[in-house]
Amino acid sequence: MKDDRIPRATVKRLPLYYRHLNILSDQGKSRISSKELSEIVKIDSATIRKDFSYFGELGRKGYGYDIQKLIQFFRKILDQDEVAKVALIGVGNLGKALLNYNFIKNDNMRIDLAFDTNKQKIGHSIGNVHIYALDELETTLKESGIQVAILTVPASASQQVADRLVDSGIEGILNFTPVRLNVPDAVQVHSIDLAVELQTLNYFLKNKS
Ligand code: ATP
Repeated sequence: MKDDRIPRATVKRLPLYYRHLNILSDQGKSRISSKELSEIVKIDSATIRKDFSYFGELGRKGYGYDIQKLIQFFRKILDQDEVAKVALIGVGNLGKALLNYNFIKNDNMRIDLAFDTNKQKIGHSIGNVHIYALDELETTLKESGIQVAILTVPASASQQVADRLVDSGIEGILNFTPVRLNVPDAVQVHSIDLAVELQTLNYFLKNKS
C-alpha cells in the first residue's frame, strides 16, 4: 500500500510499531491500548492514535487495538511477507559487523551479497555472505534483482560507488558514510552517521536543563 496522504513521519514509525507489536504477540498479549503502547515505544499516545487513524478503523474506544490485526496490517504495508534482500558494499570494520549481525532476529530482511575492492577479502564469506569483487557489482546486482544497498566504503569512494549502485538498479541506499550523496530523485538515501549521532547525544547531555 503506497498512499501519498500518509505522512512520511508516520511511515517512519511503522517499523518501530511493528517490531514491538511482534514482541507483545510473542509474549502472548492479544490487545493493547494506545496508552500502553505509548509507554513501550516512547511515542505519545495521541501521535499513535493519529498514526493509526491514517489506516482506517484499527481499534475501538475502550477496547484497545487487536495486536494480531495490527501486525497483519502493518506486515502488508511494510511488505514483510517477502524477505528483503540487501547488498553491502565495503567490508571494513563496520561492514563486517553488519554482515555478522545480519538482522538474524528479523526473518524478513537479509544481507545477501557483499562487495569489496580488497583482494584478500574477495572470495571469502562473512556470516555466510559471499564477498564479490567490486568489478562484478553491476552484473551481480542486476542478476540478483536487489533494490537496497548498505554503503560502508571509505568516504572518498562513496559517491563513485553510489553512482554505480544507481546504474545497477538500486533504489534505496543506507549510507553509513559521512558524505551527502547526490542521487536521482527516484532513489532514496537514508544516512546514518554514527559520529554525528553521538556528538548530538553528547551535546544534549551537556546542555540538559
Ligand atoms: P570502516 O570504515 O568500516 O571502519 P575500515 O576502517 O576497516 O572500515 P575503510 O578504509 O573505511 O576500512 O574501508 C572500508 C572497506 O571498504 C574496506 O574493506 C575497503 O577494502 C573497502 N573499499 C575501499 N574502497 C572501496 C570501493 N571503492 N568499493 C568497495 N569497497 C571499497
